[in-house]
Amino acid sequence: MVDAPVMTQTDTPQTSSRPGAPTMRALVKARPAEGLDFDANRPLPNGGEPGPREVLIRVRAAGVCGTDRHIWEWDDWAASRIPVGIVTGHEFVGVVEKVGEDVTTIKRGMRVSAEGHIAKGGDYNSRTGNAHIARGMQIIGVDRDGCFADYIMMPEENVWPLHEAIPDHIAAIMDPLGNAVHTVMSANVSAKNVLITGVGTIGLMATTVARAAGASRIFVTDVNNDRLQLARRIGADEAFNTRGGDDWIDEVKRATRDEGVDVLLEMSGAPAAFNDGFSALRNGGTAALLGLPSKKFDFDWNKHVIFKGATVLGINGRRMFETWYQMEALLLSGRLRLDELVTHQMPMSNYAQAFSLMQSGEAIKVVLNIND
Ligand code: ZN
Repeated sequence: MVDAPVMTQTDTPQTSSRPGAPTMRALVKARPAEGLDFDANRPLPNGGEPGPREVLIRVRAAGVCGTDRHIWEWDDWAASRIPVGIVTGHEFVGVVEKVGEDVTTIKRGMRVSAEGHIAKGGDYNSRTGNAHIARGMQIIGVDRDGCFADYIMMPEENVWPLHEAIPDHIAAIMDPLGNAVHTVMSANVSAKNVLITGVGTIGLMATTVARAAGASRIFVTDVNNDRLQLARRIGADEAFNTRGGDDWIDEVKRATRDEGVDVLLEMSGAPAAFNDGFSALRNGGTAALLGLPSKKFDFDWNKHVIFKGATVLGINGRRMFETWYQMEALLLSGRLRLDELVTHQMPMSNYAQAFSLMQSGEAIKVVLNIND
């Protein structure tokens, strides 16, 4: 594997390679500060030459994620994790440009997406079907060069050939869709009453996925009325704004024989949502937790988990590659309603606008068009 090139921190980031080497356009975290730099002369990954089992992909479109926003804003998490100098971005669709000599399953010209978690293998979870939580995992656009660029290099085993019926703007967001599908499928929602706390991008995706996967009643909460309305349009039965207090918990109980929901999908990371969500969960229910709290908080384990006999699932990434097969099956079923979630599409050069649309809350999902 080629390690992500790490540039030295100088006032003028080094952007060009040796003369004559092929270059590309890329959004680079060039400085330990807010923002990203547009580099018009970034060297191609490994000079554009795939290793024996690598695939060079020409990126067509890429989704902008909340993670990218953390990297843009250079918060504590980003500063502690992101190597300065990497190309950012981890959600994409592209076309295979070149394959290494030992690559057998991927061919030049294939339209593909890719699993962005790269396991080096050899550890317990890699060897027992749980590579998504492998030790020493590297994530593209976080730990090594990502997809906000004309080209990205991926290991063959991470590349996912796309069905022709899946359009680019959806193929570009299969990474977060995979988070939603992994969460919903882990919690087994069929014929169950489901509460989704937090309908940001992934909570909205989880709403339509839970509907398609046969959930009975779907309740959602958030503090943003526009998103609550959108959640109703794509599959929620009831949508509650938690700014109005917690009477909604009684309403959920009334609608569920005073038991509470069978399944909680926590998508907000907000301490109040954990508390309320578990309060609305029935005894013996299942909670799948995807939202990341920004810091530690008090939580009543006795009441919410132990005496309740609750099953709690931590959700990280997507299962390789069970979740990808499930995603494809759900997308091809025609039952997912995702088009409204891609609120903006724009050229990569408008990246600053993309981030400000996310920061203002105006955008749900922005897709950058890189090479059409
Ligand atoms: Zn993402």
